[in-house]
Amino acid sequence: MSYRIACDIHTHTLFSRHAYSTIAENVAACRAAGVELLGSTDHFSSMLFPEQHVRNFQYFMNQGIWPREWDGVYVLRGAEADIVSLDGALFGQDVRCPESIVGKPYATERTLFDIVTANLDYLIASVHNGDFTKGAPIARTTGMYVKALEEPKVLVLGHTGRSGVPFDIDEVLTVAKERHKLIEINEHSLEMDERGWFHSVCSRIACRCAEMGVGIVVSSDAHVAPAIGSFNCAKRMLEEIDFPEELIMNRDRATMLQALDAALGSE
Ligand SMILES: [Zn+2]
Ligand SMILES: [Zn+2]
Repeated sequence: MSYRIACDIHTHTLFSRHAYSTIAENVAACRAAGVELLGSTDHFSSMLFPEQHVRNFQYFMNQGIWPREWDGVYVLRGAEADIVSLDGALFGQDVRCPESIVGKPYATERTLFDIVTANLDYLIASVHNGDFTKGAPIARTTGMYVKALEEPKVLVLGHTGRSGVPFDIDEVLTVAKERHKLIEINEHSLEMDERGWFHSVCSRIACRCAEMGVGIVVSSDAHVAPAIGSFNCAKRMLEEIDFPEELIMNRDRATMLQALDAALGSE
C-alpha cells in the first residue's frame, strides 16, 4: 500500500535555534508539497537559552495572530516540550514565573509551562537528553511516558524510537489508546539512521500500534522548510509491516482535526 499523508504536525522554525526557516516559509513549503495542515512545534526546552525566563519564550505566546488558514494551509500552534524527569514532568513546569515579558509582576504566580502553553493547540512530549533515565528500571521509564501522555495538552509522544529510553511499549500504548493520544513515527529518526539502529525499534512500536489499534502520526520533524511533508522512510517502514491506513491520524486534515479533538477537546 502506498500511503497518502497530508498533514505534518511536527516541524520547527528558526525559533528552535538549530532550525532554519520562518513560519511563512514553512507554510509556503506545505503549499508547494500539497500538505493541507501544518503543525508548528518548536522546542520548548532548556536547550534554547541559559535563562528560563518568560521573555525568552514569547514566540509561543503570540501565535494567536497566525491565521488559521494561511495561504490555503490550516495552521496549528504547538510546541515540542522536553520530558525532563522520571516523573514525566515537562520543561517549565518547575520554573516559577513571577513577572511578565515587560517585568510586571503577575497577580497570581504561574509556571513558565502554564504561561507559554496556555494558548497552544497541542504539545508533543519528547526526551532529548535522557541522562536522567540512565539506570532507571523499566517501570519508572514506562511511568514517565504514561505521565507525559496524561498531561492534558499533550497530543503526541515524540520519537520514542530514537530517544534511547527503553520502556514497556504495551503499557504506554494502552494509555495512549484510552486517552486517544498518538504515537509518533518520526521521519527524521529513520532518515538519519544509517546503521539501522532506530528502524527496528520504530518498526516494533508501529507493529504494536497496529495490533492494539493505537493511532499514530507520521511526522517529518523538519528543521528546514524543504523537509516538510517528506515521509519517504517512514512510509517505507509502514509499508513493510502493512500498517493499517486508518490508524494514520494525519492522513488528511479532517481526520487530524478529529483526532486532536478526541484527545484534547474535552480537557
Ligand atoms: Zn530539534
Ligand atoms: Zn522536533
